[in-house]
Amino acid sequence: MIYKRSSALFAEAKQYIPGGVNSPVRAFKAVGGDPIFVKEAKGAYLCDEDDNRYIDYIASWDSLILGHAYEPVLNAIIDKAKRGTSFGMPTEIETDLAKLAVSMVPNIDKIRFVNSGTEACMSAVRLARGYTGKDKIIKFAGCYHGHSDSFLIQAGSGAVTFGSPNSPGVTQGTAKDTLLASYNDLESVANLVKVNQGEIAAVIIEPVAGNMGCIIPTDGFIHGLRELCTQNDILLIFDEVMTGFRLGRGGAQEALGIKADILCFGKVIGGGLPVGAFAASNEIMGHLAPEGPVYQAGTLSGNPLAMSAGLAMLTELNNNPEVFTSLQEKTAHLHVGLSKALDKKGLPYQINRFGSMISVHFTDHPVIDFATSAKGNNDTFKKYFHGMLDQGIYLPPSAFESYFLNDALSYEDLDETIEAVGKIAL
Ligand code: PLP
Repeated sequence: MIYKRSSALFAEAKQYIPGGVNSPVRAFKAVGGDPIFVKEAKGAYLCDEDDNRYIDYIASWDSLILGHAYEPVLNAIIDKAKRGTSFGMPTEIETDLAKLAVSMVPNIDKIRFVNSGTEACMSAVRLARGYTGKDKIIKFAGCYHGHSDSFLIQAGSGAVTFGSPNSPGVTQGTAKDTLLASYNDLESVANLVKVNQGEIAAVIIEPVAGNMGCIIPTDGFIHGLRELCTQNDILLIFDEVMTGFRLGRGGAQEALGIKADILCFGKVIGGGLPVGAFAASNEIMGHLAPEGPVYQAGTLSGNPLAMSAGLAMLTELNNNPEVFTSLQEKTAHLHVGLSKALDKKGLPYQINRFGSMISVHFTDHPVIDFATSAKGNNDTFKKYFHGMLDQGIYLPPSAFESYFLNDALSYEDLDETIEAVGKIAL
């Protein structure tokens, strides 16, 4: 593969944009080398600025579950754009999308649209604090809920008392209200609840994690978490920014058989345009401005183009729920094929899969939380990533990210991917 134009564009971008990118993981820091610059995409394929073709396994980080430039979504955006791109006033399509989302997702009455997953999670936490009158939240090491201050907190020995900031710019004042627990470790949550009795507003979790690879919650953990929250008047927030409208119409709540109190959405709900959302019962959402005192707003929230993309996307998924089964079957096929190909390499590896999320970890221990995910051999991962890239397979450029399959992927694409693994020297 020749990456000449991509490298030149990256060099130029670095002169004007910090690190040359508008979101850090795009810069290939974890895998080395220059990122490829995308020219266009259709279905399951990306085409870069050097005219290389790639089979895409990130789908705009989960958003494009039906593939790139999906006609019904595209047409909805084009139609809408011709009639104005933003009004800052109410439009009917906001209610249309809200109605559809509420009908698909269990256990919610109302939904508020924002512009990103970050905004959704940030606003959900504010709402939880306003509703409960309590300040602290519990999050899990390795779970990502966007880049708002409260969430950029790292695990550490001080976790039972004070979190410590892991990004300069996050104050100790903010960090102290975010407590850290370990994923799949109910005891770590119970301890925090005990030590901070009556002070915790919410527990926020990726119900199937995708930001430390794909990590599946054990039944005991996720059901125990629900029980612990109910017993202690703590709201359970499911960050379904990745899992929502991907694991099924009803997302992780449906897939895991659990009811959360507040849900956060992003990615698929915007059909590839910038949309986030948070949702809950009438009682909880009644605390949100202008009905209640918890403030939240946005100039471009409910933007007509974004709403039309989201509505077209959810309509497709709602009308064709077999897409979710098709995606699961494709992911299972990939899983089996990758296992066979990796077995031949004689290296330790783990594959985690849930629905259409899947990740490969180069370690001999089961990957169940951030600590076990972090044990993966990054040198092997780098060889694997670049070996695949050179054969036209675009995987997430970090061992801490899940792959997201899109339904435009064919079985031939999956088999090409599996064969490519066989050709890499790991
Ligand atoms: N929550 C989860 C689970 C995510 O994976 C992400 C982004 O990857 C976010 C929140 C933040 O979403 P956004 O990047 O749209 O702000």
